[in-house]
Amino acid sequence: MLKKDKLVILDFDHTIFNTELFKRHLKTIFMRYNVSSERYEQTYTYIKKKLKRPYDPALHLRLLEGEITDIQSLMAEVNGLVSNSKTYLYDDVISFLESIKDECELFLVSLGTKRFQEAKINSCQINGFFSKIIVTEGDGSFMKDVLKDVINEHRDKKIAIIEDVPDNIDYIKRGFPYIVAIKIERPGGKYSEEKAELNNFTVKGLYQATNIVKCIL
Ligand SMILES: [Mg+2]
Repeated sequence: MLKKDKLVILDFDHTIFNTELFKRHLKTIFMRYNVSSERYEQTYTYIKKKLKRPYDPALHLRLLEGEITDIQSLMAEVNGLVSNSKTYLYDDVISFLESIKDECELFLVSLGTKRFQEAKINSCQINGFFSKIIVTEGDGSFMKDVLKDVINEHRDKKIAIIEDVPDNIDYIKRGFPYIVAIKIERPGGKYSEEKAELNNFTVKGLYQATNIVKCIL
């Protein structure tokens, strides 16, 4: 196979995956089994802030075990939601991947509990586009290290990164100023209102990133 000299690193949550919508639907499931909105948010925050763990529904279930009316049915519904992850892919993802796959190598990077993230990614049925899929456990700072390592390993390539977290973009641009950093601001996305300082481009969707990758990178 011809060696591609362009590498595009794509983030998963909030970039290609409508994480906000998925989270809303996940919460609705819990609420059908006697978990109040307040209790759900409280335990959700506990996992992220106190335990400093990436979100994991299995862990969330364990924290709420005594309060849930029918744990088996809840689990079945959560598994159903996860296996339906493809419906949470933003609708410009496949056409974007198709449009650049012949000239760019593609990596997918994601932060989260391995079992949960991999299940979501696998059911999105996009694995074939990527030569590498990296799922990292740990808190937000781990993502920066992962990105740094990936970029360091591929210094011979022209690299673009598409990511929604401003901190990650600025961190990467400080270390690797030559990289093309595209900040994606999906409408309603978690970090869409928060600006990065060093990004080269801002896009509302991947449909706006195709030309950047094709013409600028
Ligand atoms: Mg993200």
